[in-house]
Amino acid sequence: MARVYNFSAGPSQLPESVLKSAASELLEYGSSGQSVMEMSHRSPEYQAIIDSAEALLREVLNIPDNYKVLFLQGGASLQFTMLAMNLMNGSHTADYVVTGVWGKKAAAEGAKIGNARVIASSADKNFSYIPKITKDMINPEADYVHVCWNNTIYGTAWHQIPDTGDVPLVADMSSCFLSEPVDVSKFGMIYAGAQKNLAPAGVTIVIIREDLVGKAPEGTPAMLDYKTHVDAGSMYNTPPCWCIYMCKLVLEWIKNDIGGLEKMKERNQAKAAKLYAFLESSKLFKDTVEKEDRSIMNVPFVTGDAEMDKKFVAESKAAGFVNLKGHRSVGGMRASIYNAMQPEGVDALIEFMKKFEAENSK
Ligand SMILES: *Cc1c(COP(=O)(O)O)cnc(C)c1O
Repeated sequence: MARVYNFSAGPSQLPESVLKSAASELLEYGSSGQSVMEMSHRSPEYQAIIDSAEALLREVLNIPDNYKVLFLQGGASLQFTMLAMNLMNGSHTADYVVTGVWGKKAAAEGAKIGNARVIASSADKNFSYIPKITKDMINPEADYVHVCWNNTIYGTAWHQIPDTGDVPLVADMSSCFLSEPVDVSKFGMIYAGAQKNLAPAGVTIVIIREDLVGKAPEGTPAMLDYKTHVDAGSMYNTPPCWCIYMCKLVLEWIKNDIGGLEKMKERNQAKAAKLYAFLESSKLFKDTVEKEDRSIMNVPFVTGDAEMDKKFVAESKAAGFVNLKGHRSVGGMRASIYNAMQPEGVDALIEFMKKFEAENSK
């Protein structure tokens, strides 16, 4: 068996040791005589799994006690709607910063619920930077300010938490979740689809400050009300049992194998720094975003020649580096180097790019 280096933006590579653990427990979890996939979600065995996933997440991310953790379905995309339904409940206005496709979609869903105002956007330069946000740009009456923390498609990320005063900050962290420590107390809510950096597709994590729960308007469908899920410990209905179990395994890997989020950050920064340094020195490849706004998770790059990009994608694939084709809105290539991408994978990619450059320079 030969596993490839998978640079997919999501679903994406999982740590090999986690896949092996899952495989070893696939037919029988513990001494339960059954697979996690077959277990009743109301069984004590399963309760222990979801409790342990939540406890590990709280520990690894250092989540304060006044925040609730939810395991939901519907992807980050459902959160665009759900957060607006639940949180746009005071002035019925919310401020959005649009730094890419996902932030734009979030704002569009918000606009279906209330008055969603775009206070800044980087659309003018194809989302290649993060706009500066100052407090005077924010409506002090807004119910929240929404940002997309890591822009998966464009390869930009926030590196500073904007000061929104008393207005709760809501962040889509789908593509950078658990890539580095985050001061959760600075946010009203954080959410993340798991399939980028945590687990297989099928579960979405919501971390929400207690006082923001229970404010959905009368008549909100039960499944779309955070309070329903808080009250039921994410088990109002059948949760994505297997995915939550996988979250547990990945969190154990972060805690025990990597050594926590500070170490995770060092490892991720080192990988990204090597790749960006190579792009800066290369005569063939170049990166596409403002230096200070670079993501350490998604690294887009181009040759400037669509035919050459195509050739690179084809040859890299044949050499075992898969899913390097860029998103159609940026073109070129994109290497998603999430938590599970081992440093050797990035080293090997850089070596391959050097070789390709040497073979293709005029
Ligand atoms: C992938 C992605 C989404 C969409 O996630 P789904 O789980 O497919 O709905 C939203 N936001 C960001 C930042 C993403 O990377």
